[in-house]
Amino acid sequence: MEKLSLAEHFISINGEGRRAGELSLFLRFTGCDLRCDWCDTMWANEKDAPHRLLAAEELTELAAQAIAEFGIRNVTLTGGEPLLQRSLPQLCAGLCALGLHVEIETNGSAPVRPFLEECQGLGVRPQLTMDYKLPSSNMESRMCMENFRFLRPDDTLKLVCASRQDLERAAQLIRELAPECQVYLSPVFGRIDPAEMVEFLKEKKLGSVRLQLQLHKIIWDPERRGV
Ligand code: SF4
Repeated sequence: MEKLSLAEHFISINGEGRRAGELSLFLRFTGCDLRCDWCDTMWANEKDAPHRLLAAEELTELAAQAIAEFGIRNVTLTGGEPLLQRSLPQLCAGLCALGLHVEIETNGSAPVRPFLEECQGLGVRPQLTMDYKLPSSNMESRMCMENFRFLRPDDTLKLVCASRQDLERAAQLIRELAPECQVYLSPVFGRIDPAEMVEFLKEKKLGSVRLQLQLHKIIWDPERRGV
């Protein structure tokens, strides 16, 4: 089985998502097929990014240690784009077998169907937090629209906004696609005032959408890694 390319791992609180505020083991993988304008983890996407190649079993062992040491109940697989790791389904199966809640942060361009089918074959269905890249990312044309068909109510759609144009596009998408999953609007740190986003939610009557602030950027220096 192909090894996975791990850029870093750390224990912190989930800075966003349904389990925001709960401890989680973060596994960040190298490589991404996108280049978002406001990416804050570009270092992990470079070809020469520092990394370790580890088997799914070794990463599962790491998680078992984190359970014993810190009592974690969550693991967050992130990047980069974690779906580029071919052995991700096997890793998910190992992590689920430990009783962990497994969340995958995916960028909306990688097709989720093959991954989910492989997971299904292994008897697991990790939770997806899927981005949809709005205009200011310059990556909207790369979105895989088929992915929306595979989002379930316990998944999350994350719309990262940096401008009024992004907000308008987010509202349009929500109206047209009516996703069944939880929808979050999240500001690009320092690029848009969250208060403006609250006003926008009111203006557009988006009562089922949640504003989400990245806790880790409020608690620690926004540039700090590994938190
Ligand atoms: S998808 Fe995520 S990791 Fe990739 S460039 Fe965009 S923000 Fe960065």
